[in-house]
Parts: sequence; C-alpha cells; structure tokens
Amino acid sequence: MNDCLFCQIAQGTIPADKVHEDDSTVAFRDITPQAPCHILVIPRRHIRSVATITPDDYPLWCHMLEVTQRLAVYEDLVGDDAGYRVVTNSGVASGQSVDHLHLHILGGRTMTWPPG
Ligand code: 5GP
Ligand code: ZN
Repeated sequence: MNDCLFCQIAQGTIPADKVHEDDSTVAFRDITPQAPCHILVIPRRHIRSVATITPDDYPLWCHMLEVTQRLAVYEDLVGDDAGYRVVTNSGVASGQSVDHLHLHILGGRTMTWPPG
C-alpha cells in the first residue's frame, strides 16, 4: 500500500534502523523506544493486523515468530539472559497506531503486568 508507513519502510523509501531483512520480513528499531531494546518485526506484504491474517498467511506469521526468536535469543539483541516481551496490538482500543501487522520485541528493562 503506497500510503502505508511500514510498507514504505519495507520498500526502503522511508529510512529505518533495520536489524534484519529477508524476502518476506523486515525488522527495525522503533523510533520511540519504550524499552532499551524495542524492535518491530513486520511482513513485507501489507496485512492490517493479527485479526486479519488468514490460513494462507500462517507460514508468514510463523516466520515472523522465528525472526523474533532469532533476533531476541540467538542474536541476543535484548541482552544477556534478559527477559523480553513480544506484543502485537490489533485495533484502536489495543493501542494499534500503524495499520500494518507488526510484532513489538521489548527488552532490557523490568516490565510490569497487567499492561495499561
Ligand atoms: P502500534 O502502536 O501500532 O502497536 O506500534 C506502532 C509503533 O511504530 C510505535 O511503537 C511507534 O513508535 C512506531 N513508529 C511509528 N512511526 C515510526 C517510524 O517512522 N519509524 C519507526 N522506526 N517506528 C515508528
Ligand atoms: Zn503496509
């Protein structure tokens, strides 16, 4: 989608601090980090949110989770033995502000529960 911020980041027309790219996903640092490590994992293809993924998208969704694990655990972007949180917001009430599916990886600080 031409007017979608994350589609434009995926295409490279809007710059971002990317930490991972492959054929179907991109990961980059959040511009307003809510933790010392705050990374967003997105599909290149425009999908509105987790609420609109279809069975055809399941391999891609699985791959997004694989990329998340790779960055957080194997590439250790959240820090030694630190816990981390994986979040996806869906819909305005949840706090979704960009209508392109994304996983937040948050780490590097102690977090509280329940979230606000
Ligand atoms: P949401 O609120 O939709 O769950 O998350 C959207 C995230 O995108 C927010 O954490 C916000 O800070 C981040 N964001 C918004 N605009 C940009 C941008 O232009 N570049 C980057 N890297 N992150 C952005
Ligand atoms: Zn998009």
